[in-house]
Amino acid sequence: MKALLRRAGFEIVGSEDEADATVLLTCIVRDSVDARMVNRMVELEGHPTVVAGCFPEAYPDRVRKLRPDASLVGPRHLDRIVEAVRAVLEGSRVEFIGDREDLDWKADAPRVLPGLSAIVPICEGCPNRCAYCAVKLARGDLRSFSPERILRRVERELERGAVEIHLTAQDTAAYGQDLGVDLIDLLEDVVELCSRYGARVRLGMFNPGSAYPIADELADLFATWDDVLYRSVHMPVQSGDDEVLRRMNRNYTVEEALEIYRAFERRLGYFAFITDVIVGFPGETEEAFRNTLEFLERTRPHILHASRFCRRPRTPAAEMEDQVPEEVKLRRSRVLHRKRLEWAREANRELVGRRVEVTVLGEGWGRDEHAKKSVFRGDEPEPGERVRCRVVDACHSRLVVTT
Ligand code: SF4
Repeated sequence: MKALLRRAGFEIVGSEDEADATVLLTCIVRDSVDARMVNRMVELEGHPTVVAGCFPEAYPDRVRKLRPDASLVGPRHLDRIVEAVRAVLEGSRVEFIGDREDLDWKADAPRVLPGLSAIVPICEGCPNRCAYCAVKLARGDLRSFSPERILRRVERELERGAVEIHLTAQDTAAYGQDLGVDLIDLLEDVVELCSRYGARVRLGMFNPGSAYPIADELADLFATWDDVLYRSVHMPVQSGDDEVLRRMNRNYTVEEALEIYRAFERRLGYFAFITDVIVGFPGETEEAFRNTLEFLERTRPHILHASRFCRRPRTPAAEMEDQVPEEVKLRRSRVLHRKRLEWAREANRELVGRRVEVTVLGEGWGRDEHAKKSVFRGDEPEPGERVRCRVVDACHSRLVVTT
């Protein structure tokens, strides 16, 4: 949006006091974020405002009530930001929300700064209907961008100097289901292209349900191209209990998630496993929580995103009975927090004394082949370089390396 506004002649300033209009880019993933967004909308009252992102898409009536003067721009219409800003500057308002045919513009959207690390979205929305999810309300059903557009975008980023391409989606393994192609085909082409430029590829998160049918092929691809693909697998499992997964409307079992994990373990040996869990989903018993702990003990994630379940308006889980009391959620999330740090530290410390290859992404830091943040001690190679290093120390969040 910044790039589009600049291209249209607007200047981006540092605070709303200096601004003629403000664009509030919103998120709705948790209730605490939701509350912050509402506060900002109210604080900006009397000031020309565009409310963009997921909030106006999922909850348009709430925005209209809070700020009847604001323009609304949903995630599938961010390319119309200039019109929305012009409208509020003229004292009127517009709404660009709802579904839309052509979304390929997203694969080609301009960027503010050419960077060493480029984020490339490969689709919008997802094919799933998880019972707790508000993001789905805003992002809609799966809409994959065409492989040609994605490859063109990747090539453009590489030409501009990117040394790391990060492919993102709500669920990367679902890519192409709506087009009759699949992630494997796309990934092979992207990886091959990036290898010609000596760049790394980071695959964004995928759900076990979508990954299960292609797990072996995917793991093979990671092993074949391990000099290009980061050995990093982000698979949000959300719970280690089949009954909770069923109530969440996640379309896989714990055993299937474990099979995917093992497919990568067999081929890659050491790899960075990242997962997300929700504690205190309605109906989560002590036993169900223990099952989640057991799954995590088995996989010992290098990064664990653990969040407490919160009721999001217009989602089935918000209406479910058997809501778990807040103090129980808090106790369970504390257990996970302690474990999370232990697993992360242990996984990183395993690399101490080993040699890794770091892609330098900024002054004094980069990512090793497992996409772990690595900071340099002593000599600092130039950003953009790829260097062999030794790991001399590690904590739960990073490696310390020397050349
Ligand atoms: S996969 Fe589930 S949690 Fe993720 S965006 Fe889709 S519906 Fe939401």
